[in-house]
Amino acid sequence: MNTHKLLIIDDDEQIGEMLKTIAEQCGFHVIFTDTALAFYEQLSLFEPDLIMVDLIMPDVDGVQLIERLADINHNAKLIIISGAGKRVVNSSAVSAQEHGMEIAGVLNKPFRTAEARQVLTDFIKHNRRRRPTAKEKIAPAQDHWFPGEDDLQQALDSGLINAHFQPKISSHTKLLLGFEVLARWHDEEHGGVRPDYFIQLAERTHQIDSLTRLVFDQAMCWFARLSRTVNPDQSMTLTMEPDNLTIAVNISVVNLQNRLLPDELSDCCEQHGVSPQQVILEVTETAAMENPTEMLDILTRLRIKGFGLAIDDFGVGYSSLIQLARLPFSELKVDRSFVMTGDESAESRAVIKSVVNLAKSLGLKSVAEGVESHAMRRYLDQIGCDILQGFAIAKPMAAEPCEVWIEEYYQTMEQQRVKALKTLDILDTPEEYRFDRITRLAKRLFDVPVALISFVDVERQWFKSHPDFDLPETPREFSFCAHALGFQEVFVVNNASEHPRFRNNELVTDADKPIRFYAGCPLQMPGGERLGTLCLIDSEPRHFSDQEKIVLQQLAALVEEELEADEYQDLDHLTQLFNRSAFERRSRSMLTLAERSQLAIYLLLIDIDDFRQFNELYGHTAGDTALIAIADILRENFRQSDIISRFSGDEFSVMMINKADREEIQLASIVDRINQEIDRVINQTLAPNSLKLTVSTGVATTSENSHFSYSKLLYEAQYQLRRRP
Ligand code: C2E
Ligand code: CA
Ligand code: CA
Repeated sequence: MNTHKLLIIDDDEQIGEMLKTIAEQCGFHVIFTDTALAFYEQLSLFEPDLIMVDLIMPDVDGVQLIERLADINHNAKLIIISGAGKRVVNSSAVSAQEHGMEIAGVLNKPFRTAEARQVLTDFIKHNRRRRPTAKEKIAPAQDHWFPGEDDLQQALDSGLINAHFQPKISSHTKLLLGFEVLARWHDEEHGGVRPDYFIQLAERTHQIDSLTRLVFDQAMCWFARLSRTVNPDQSMTLTMEPDNLTIAVNISVVNLQNRLLPDELSDCCEQHGVSPQQVILEVTETAAMENPTEMLDILTRLRIKGFGLAIDDFGVGYSSLIQLARLPFSELKVDRSFVMTGDESAESRAVIKSVVNLAKSLGLKSVAEGVESHAMRRYLDQIGCDILQGFAIAKPMAAEPCEVWIEEYYQTMEQQRVKALKTLDILDTPEEYRFDRITRLAKRLFDVPVALISFVDVERQWFKSHPDFDLPETPREFSFCAHALGFQEVFVVNNASEHPRFRNNELVTDADKPIRFYAGCPLQMPGGERLGTLCLIDSEPRHFSDQEKIVLQQLAALVEEELEADEYQDLDHLTQLFNRSAFERRSRSMLTLAERSQLAIYLLLIDIDDFRQFNELYGHTAGDTALIAIADILRENFRQSDIISRFSGDEFSVMMINKADREEIQLASIVDRINQEIDRVINQTLAPNSLKLTVSTGVATTSENSHFSYSKLLYEAQYQLRRRP
C-alpha cells in the first residue's frame, strides 16, 4: 500500500506530537523532528512527500529551511505552521511558491485539531500517490550528501573549509565599505555543502570553535594582505582607503559561550596586524536575545577590545527593544528574507523600512543583505539604508576573484566619476561669485587661510574656487582631495607632517606654504559620483571637532546645490546679481546651516525711493545704469560671502552671515556709506535735476529672535522698510 509520508519540524514537542497523532489517524506515515540536523537527515532517508515546517523556531530559521528545500528542488509539498500572524505566514507562503515549492496548506497557531485534520485530508484527496515510473526508478532522486561529525572534522583538518568574501557597499556613495566572510565547504566527491547545514553540524558536534577560528584566521590573513597590496599611492585610479574597509565575520551563539573568545580573536588580529576597529562580528538576533544578561557581558568585552558588533538576520525574531538598545551593537542587518522578497511584497518593504528606521533611532548603521535587484537598491537608498550587500552588487567570492572584483569595481567607479565630471563641463571655467561666496564663507567661519573647491580630474586636481590661493591646479599625486573621495564623510588630517601617507608629500615638505591641516568634504552628484571636495587648509596643525565637520558638510551641500543650479535662470540679467527666487533658495539653505551653527543672519532689504519718477525724468537708460551702479556699490560694500540679489524691479536684498557674538555688524554706517556712494556715483553724473536717487532700508536678524524661518525674517524686514519716513 502506498502511504503518504509526512516529515514534521517544530521546536515545540507538544505540538509536534499532537500533529503526528492526527496525521497518523489520517493514514500518514509520520516522523517528527525538532532540530534542523535531524530534519535534514530524515529528508534524505525518509523521502517525505509532505513536510510541515514551523516558521519560527529558536535554533532554525524556518524561512531559510524552506528556501533550502526549494534549492535542492525537493518535490515534497509544504504545510507552513506559525504563530507569527497571518501576514508573515502568508508572505512566506508566497515566497516559498516563488522558490518553486508547492504549498499544501497553512496552519496559524493556535489552531484546532479539526483544522489540522482538514489540511491533511485535503492533501490526501489531491495527491493520490502514483507508482514511480520506470525512469524514476533507474535514476534515483538527486543524491544529497549530509556529512556527519567525522566528515566535518576531516574537512576542517584538511583545509576543505575556507573563507569567501562578499562585498558591502555604501548605499548612498557606492563606496566599497568592506566584506562579509562566509564559510565554504567544497568536497571533491560530493560538491558544495550548504553553510547553514555544516554550521549547525559544527555547533552540535562542538567543532564550531575550531571552525570559527579557522575562518577568522583566514579572513584576517586575507584582509591584512589586501590592505598591503592595494596601495593607493601606486595606483592613481584607486581612490581607495584600505583603512576604511571593514571585515565582518559570523560568530555562532555557541562561540559566545567560550569565555576565551575575546582574547583569541584580538590575538589573531594582532598577529596579522589588523585593527579590531576594522573587524565586525555578526551575531544573529535570536542568539543575542537568547540570554541577554550573559550576552551583555561577553558582547561588552568584545566591544571593549574594539570590535564592531552587528545583529544579523534582524526581523526574524522578536527582540525586546529595551534589550536591543542595551546591547552594544554598532550595526543592524535586515534579514535577507525580507530584502529578497521586497520587490513584490509590500509587507516585506514595510519590515525593511521599519528596521532601517529603528537602526537610525538607535544610532546604528543599517545593512540590507540579499539585495538582488536594482529596484531594491533604489528603494534602500531612498529609505536611507546605509549599507548594501547582495547578488546585485556581488556574490560571495574566493580571495583571488574577490581581488579582481575590487580592482574592477574601482575602475568602474572612477570611469563613472570622470564621465560625470566631463558632463558637468566645469573644468577650466572662470571663477564665479556663486562658488567664491561659499569658499570665502568657509574661510571666515573656520578661520583658515585657504578654502578651496577642487575637482579631481584624471591626472590633476583643478580648483574652481581658490580665493587668496595662487595655484589653479596641482598634480593628482599630491592631492589630499583625491584621498578624501575615498571617505564616507569628512576626511581630516590634523597634522600632515606626522601623517604616514602625507608626511613626504611635496605640499607638506615644501617650505614655502607647507600644508599641516587638511579637512575635505566630498562633493557628490545626485547619481552618487564624487567629483571633488570643499576643503580647508591651514599651515598650522589643528583639531577639527565633530560640530565643525557637520558645518563643513553643510557648506559642501551648498556647493552641490550650486553645481545643480541653472546659472542662467538664477541671475538677473541686467545687474548679474541673483534674482529673487535664486536669492530665496540660497537664503533658506543658509538659515538651515545657521540653525546648527553659531551664526547670526541679517536680512537687509534696500528699496530705491521714487524710482518710477527717476525713470520718467531721466529715461530708462539712465534708470538701467543706476541699477547697475547700485549693484556694483552693493558688491563693494558687502562681503563676498554675503548673498546679494536684485529682489524686484527697484529693490535689492542682502543676506549677511556672521559668527554670532564674534562679528559685530555696523549696519547704520554701511547704509550711510551706500547712500554716500549712490550720491557720488549716480546723482552727480546721472541726476542733475532736483530729483536725487536715495534708498530706504529695512533689516531683520536671527540673533534677536530665535525664530529662523525665512518668511518671518522677510516679513520683519519689509515691515521695517514700510515704517520708514
Ligand atoms: P548569513 O550570515 O545571513 O549570511 C548571508 C547569506 O546570504 C549567505 O549565505 C550569502 O551567500 C547569502 N546572500 C547574500 N546575498 C544574497 C543575495 O542577494 N541573494 C541570496 N539568495 N542570498 C544572498 P550562505 O553563505 O549560504 O550562508 C548561510 C548562513 O550560514 C549565513 O547566513 C550564516 O548564518 C552561516 N554562516 C556562513 N558562514 C559562516 C561562518 O563562517 N560562521 C558561522 N558561525 N556561520 C556562518
Ligand atoms: Ca551574517
Ligand atoms: Ca544575515
